Amino acid sequence: MQYYSTNGKAPMADLQKAVVKGLAEDRGLYMPERINRLPKAFFDDMPAMRFQDIAYNVAAAFFGEDIDGDGLKELVYDTLQFDCPIVKVKENIYALELFHGPTLAFKDVGARFMARLLQYFLRSGSVGCDSSAANGTVNVLVATSGDTGSAVANGFLGVEGIHVYVLYPKGKVSPIQECQFTTLGQNITAVEVDGVFDDCQALVKSAFMDKELNKHMMLTSANSINVARFLPQAFYYFNAVARLTSLLSPLTSDIVMCVPSGNFGNICAALFGHEMGLPVKRFIAANNANDVFYNYLQTGQYEPKPSIQTLANAMDVGDPSNFARIINLYSENGQLSPEETHQRITSLISGATYSDEQIKETMRKCYEETGYILDPHGACGYRALEEQLEEGEVGIFCETAHPAKFKEKVDEILGIDVEIPERLAAFMRGEKQSVPMANDFEAFKLFLLERA
Ligand SMILES: *Cc1c(COP(=O)(O)O)cnc(C)c1O
Repeated sequence: MQYYSTNGKAPMADLQKAVVKGLAEDRGLYMPERINRLPKAFFDDMPAMRFQDIAYNVAAAFFGEDIDGDGLKELVYDTLQFDCPIVKVKENIYALELFHGPTLAFKDVGARFMARLLQYFLRSGSVGCDSSAANGTVNVLVATSGDTGSAVANGFLGVEGIHVYVLYPKGKVSPIQECQFTTLGQNITAVEVDGVFDDCQALVKSAFMDKELNKHMMLTSANSINVARFLPQAFYYFNAVARLTSLLSPLTSDIVMCVPSGNFGNICAALFGHEMGLPVKRFIAANNANDVFYNYLQTGQYEPKPSIQTLANAMDVGDPSNFARIINLYSENGQLSPEETHQRITSLISGATYSDEQIKETMRKCYEETGYILDPHGACGYRALEEQLEEGEVGIFCETAHPAKFKEKVDEILGIDVEIPERLAAFMRGEKQSVPMANDFEAFKLFLLERA
């Protein structure tokens, strides 16, 4: 399978190049040249299949030409060693819990899948470096304001041939988040930068552009726009439909899928699933106060703006990267006019935007009425379904993080003491190891070169 750039000015790339480079040369996002529809027999069998087997079929539609069947099976099974159950919250509304992975966030699946895919390419001997000096190790650099760092670090933990450097802003990451990537050791190095998140990001960007560094080390990013990180999220939606179908058998209502969104990677994967034939009638993109996509749906104009800090901070995005993928998909790679594209998008996707006050109110109301503890991100999804679900529909919203990841906030809003799952508690008992780093590229470069 070849991948083209949403900007249309870069050469096509094969899977390996798309994964190692992340972003195309013209700064566009990679898109698969085809989205294969799955056969009716698969959808008929799906309710009786296990998550891993469903995911393998979905993965094969994207990656089957590039990875042999056994290799892909191993990759998928290794990635999905946990469940993503649907839980009934109230009549017609179900939570799809995406937080049962190693760091209790849905980004775990994409991060782990990408790690295993890179490892597959390394083992097959096809990933090389321009220089002889690179000792065969791939170095992943990732800047984080909290959540991405932990998912990537845990996804790549113990994967041979890959070393991960997580750059994070000193004192600006919550203790629960910090311990998830500073206590791991092995092939994970946490770099504590004397600066803010943007400084970490700038150091990583400078490293990718530095010729000398690239001559000595093979560098790659594990950015969320990477096809290997975003496509596997489609697995969730097939599994959710399968579980709901067997639970409500016979299913007579139409399914509405509601995704709390920030960079729009997760919902984009769901939309790819829809293109593959997944029987979902329509989608809702639930936002916090960062409302650029919501405004696009209303007006047809896309006007990115600086992000606003909210309670649901993993969705604080003012210019969602995957918007370009959604436009590319529904404009058929630019063949349709902006008006036609907008029309197609609004006939399938509706929006919602909520203030912090509304998020809190929703968390309290849901807890009182149902006993279900929402985290601030999931709360946006739950509320959008409550407001928009129509007669004859059944709704599933993604619960994207475990409430314990936002314990301070959730405890305060609900007046409870959220239990910390053992997996999280284990991280908190670990010993913090990090390398202090000045906010200075020369210092960072020297540090990397010494380890090359
Ligand atoms: C990353 C994240 C989101 C947003 O997902 P996108 O793919 O960026 O839209 C929502 N909730 C949580 C908890 C996240 O970590």
